[in-house]
Amino acid sequence: MTAPTPKPSVSEREARQVAEAAREQDWRKPSFAKELFLGRFRLDLIHPHPMPPPEDALRGEEFLAKLRAFCETKIDSARIEREARIPDETIKGLKELGALGMKIDTKYGGLGLTQVYYNKALALVGSASPAIGALLSAHQSIGVPQPLKIFGTQEQKDAFLPRCATTDITAFLLTEPDVGSDPARLATTAVPDGDGGDHYVLDGVKLWTTNGVVADLLVVMARVPKSEGHKGGITAFVVEADSEGVTVENRNAFMGLRGLENGVTRFHQVRVPAANRIGPEGAGLKIALTTLNTGRLSLPAMCVGAGKWCLKIAREWSGAVSSGVSRSRTTRRSARRSPSSRRPRSRSKPYSTSPRRWPTRTATTSASRPHSPSCTAPRWPG
Ligand SMILES: Cc1cc2nc3c(=O)[nH]c(=O)nc-3n(C[C@H](O)[C@H](O)[C@H](O)COP(=O)(O)OP(=O)(O)OC[C@H]3O[C@@H](n4cnc5c(N)ncnc54)[C@H](O)[C@@H]3O)c2cc1C
Repeated sequence: MTAPTPKPSVSEREARQVAEAAREQDWRKPSFAKELFLGRFRLDLIHPHPMPPPEDALRGEEFLAKLRAFCETKIDSARIEREARIPDETIKGLKELGALGMKIDTKYGGLGLTQVYYNKALALVGSASPAIGALLSAHQSIGVPQPLKIFGTQEQKDAFLPRCATTDITAFLLTEPDVGSDPARLATTAVPDGDGGDHYVLDGVKLWTTNGVVADLLVVMARVPKSEGHKGGITAFVVEADSEGVTVENRNAFMGLRGLENGVTRFHQVRVPAANRIGPEGAGLKIALTTLNTGRLSLPAMCVGAGKWCLKIAREWSGAVSSGVSRSRTTRRSARRSPSSRRPRSRSKPYSTSPRRWPTRTATTSASRPHSPSCTAPRWPG
């Protein structure tokens, strides 16, 4: 093992400058939240919610139906948590479904879903298995496809996006041991080398690399030293994960999300073609933060999916209905059903999470009342 790369010493003022300079500045649309902070309630910015064009909705709904069927029959979340890994056949099935390319344009072999349908898909798959939700999200929300989509050259898109849409899992490597919220101290270096600087040599260590343990392609943020002809600064690169000198030194273990392929990756004298640099030297932190701005949209979507799933299970356990409105609807519907049908519906098993642990009593107790219609498989945000 090589010695740790020394961290640059950075004052508080410099740290702030680096973070501020990397902020996204070109906001093209007004922000509902910003307007609220300014004391203006701009309901028109969020209501009515724009409807997708019919062809986008059709494509999205068709994919959601296939994904739901896959979740119900092919994902065993309990096994993933037990074995702390996603089975190979599940990953293969997801690739065949096109789930690696949900947000990638159809001209590169992706499904070309809108952000809304991408989020719905993550809410669905994330409640079947959070580890799979994290894998798909880290790959498409922050991994190689997203920065290339916004900042990549046409050549880079042509070279990498078809792989990202179909076969290659990708990861986003910004954080380092002791460098998280304070990227000014980023210590991984990319030193220009070769004839006319036709490649860079990367050295350093990255931590918390979601997907990094199994990834085929990485987007890596590294510091280019300032020199003649090189502006220098934090710069983003696409790196082949099987390049010589790339080592996964640890797979991190978590209490939940045990199937997460998150680890520590070391770069030792790794040669990266200059053609794999995303944007100019010094633009890497801005690229990373802009990527994260869009990428983080998928986290609330998965939280909504998880919340709905938890609520569904809690309601099925209690047999409860949540409000007068749904209680009266339930009563009316129950009355229309024949007496023999007035038993608890079989435990809906949209996914093979843990149906065996759900209550099985059939006596007429509060726990066995017919479920409210809203207690069946959750409907995802419309
Ligand atoms: C499950 C998981 C997955 C991850 N996946 C990835 C990934 O794929 N790629 C990647 O690059 N990184 C990833 N990360 C890293 C994550 O983005 C970092 O954890 C994050 O940037 C925070 O860095 P840190 O952990 O070093 O915390 P620190 O920066 O040490 O912060 C610790 C606490 O101090 C607070 N704090 C820090 N500085 C200040 C300040 N100046 N003023 C006030 N409060 C402050 C923070 O808000 C935080 O609460 C992942 C982390 C986790 C846990």
